[in-house]
Amino acid sequence: MANQRSTLVVGNWKMHGRLAGNAALLQRVAEGARALQQGVRVGVCVPFPYLSQAQALLGGADGGRVAWGAQDVSAHEQGAYTGEVAAEMVAEFGAAYAIVGHSERRAYHHESSELVAVKAQRALAAGLTPIVCVGEMLEQREAGATRDVVGAQLDVVLAVLSADEAARIVVAYEPVWAIGTGKSATAQEAQEVHAFLRARLAAKGAQAAGVPLLYGGSVKPDNAAELFRQPDIDGGLIGGASLKDADFLAICAAAPAV
Ligand code: PEP
Repeated sequence: MANQRSTLVVGNWKMHGRLAGNAALLQRVAEGARALQQGVRVGVCVPFPYLSQAQALLGGADGGRVAWGAQDVSAHEQGAYTGEVAAEMVAEFGAAYAIVGHSERRAYHHESSELVAVKAQRALAAGLTPIVCVGEMLEQREAGATRDVVGAQLDVVLAVLSADEAARIVVAYEPVWAIGTGKSATAQEAQEVHAFLRARLAAKGAQAAGVPLLYGGSVKPDNAAELFRQPDIDGGLIGGASLKDADFLAICAAAPAV
């Protein structure tokens, strides 16, 4: 079950940050993370231009235990794709993670699950861990279609991965109605979907069943502990609260003892 494994908490800065503010935030997170219990893994996914800053501040001896990553990668390996950033470019900055299929990219950039699947493959091929986001919209939840929606989103990705590759991803369940709205899913609502996703992953193989399943959507210091206590919630993908070091560290500290 989930809580025998470590807890993973990853910040998604979205399109926020400037060099000076980032430096202070990264330094405080790196420092605070040293006090976290061993079983907690921490990451921050920053805008592309700040990958080198994250590498410089988190990668040295002082950086400690905070990994870093990007919020997207191109579906292409390289070529005439103006404005795109290849997974291998991200990996060159020592990144560990790349978010793929975030609902904001699905909504504003019309990314399909098929495209997300290719991006996940590109990330894996470059040595990154893709954080594959799935989640339903409010009207889909209200219509009782949550499992159909998230199951289909995940299945499209799993279909293109080998069992070995599937074991190297992270999945983030992010109900769209909970992102940036202050309205989180209850721990029980999230757990139900996570258990469903866990079963889908298990169908891909025993190793895939163990991939970290993160919950994302208005996670805050005061609801993190209950979410992380659920047997199939292995951590969180944190948007707004990852921009405040005290809140982000408090969420990380809410991880159950292993
Ligand atoms: C996100 O965008 O991945 C997210 C979870 O945002 P928030 O925590 O702000 O709801």
